[in-house]
Amino acid sequence: MTHVQDHFNIWLRDAFAAEGQSITMLTSQAKRIQNYPDIKGRVEEHLVETENQQELLRGLLERNAGPPLIRTVAGKLSTAAQGISGMLAGDEIVKGAMATYIFEQGEIASYRVLLAAADELGDAEAQDVLSRIMEQELAMAGWLYDHLDVLTRIYLMRDERDLQAKR
Ligand code: MG
Ligand code: FE
Repeated sequence: MTHVQDHFNIWLRDAFAAEGQSITMLTSQAKRIQNYPDIKGRVEEHLVETENQQELLRGLLERNAGPPLIRTVAGKLSTAAQGISGMLAGDEIVKGAMATYIFEQGEIASYRVLLAAADELGDAEAQDVLSRIMEQELAMAGWLYDHLDVLTRIYLMRDERDLQAKR
């Protein structure tokens, strides 16, 4: 039987790896977006938050002295591959915003699980850190939900007028 603490450590490492993927994805988007300043600004803001989140998770992991963080490599590779296929799409701004929205929902699910496990462990420090990260993920997902509508309309309008629309 695996103990609660072991599950928690594994889920924490998974979350750390996911934040690494997120940094790769957001960095590439921030660099490529040209015609959508609102999206670019929000992506840059969440990139800074995400780098901080990863450091907070590193702190929790080092405190628990878990196994070394080696599981991030495969994740980075698959994110890079996604990034490249996204660039080939004529609607990369739309596909990118959708991918980020989906990614945020995955993060929300993973922090929900981690918060339950931290509560079971009575780990108040982890609960505090994880709640702060959760707020940022919910805010980013909510922002994207609100802006996917106008983003789509601006994309369609630019494309219709033969303005550069894809990014
Ligand atoms: Mg995150
Ligand atoms: Fe996020």
